[in-house]
Amino acid sequence: MFCVKCGKEVSNEGNFCHHCGNKIKNETVIITSEKSIIQKSTKNNQKIEDKIINVIKIVVATFLLLGAWSYMIGFFLFLEKQLEF
Ligand SMILES: [Zn+2]
Repeated sequence: MFCVKCGKEVSNEGNFCHHCGNKIKNETVIITSEKSIIQKSTKNNQKIEDKIINVIKIVVATFLLLGAWSYMIGFFLFLEKQLEF
């Protein structure tokens, strides 16, 4: 194993480079894990956004249906009143 910072050979057991004191094992592991966490979180966010968009679509569709339905009912009530008089 070689140090990323100074390029000198380092023992696999130590987490720090004996020549420059650079972190070796932990740093690479943390970076990869952080990247995977970020990728996972972005994927989850995309899923949540898709869910929100779907919910908004459903809500808009139901409101449109309710609006059309209430308009129809109002129109029929108006016709009934017209017929009564
Ligand atoms: Zn080094």
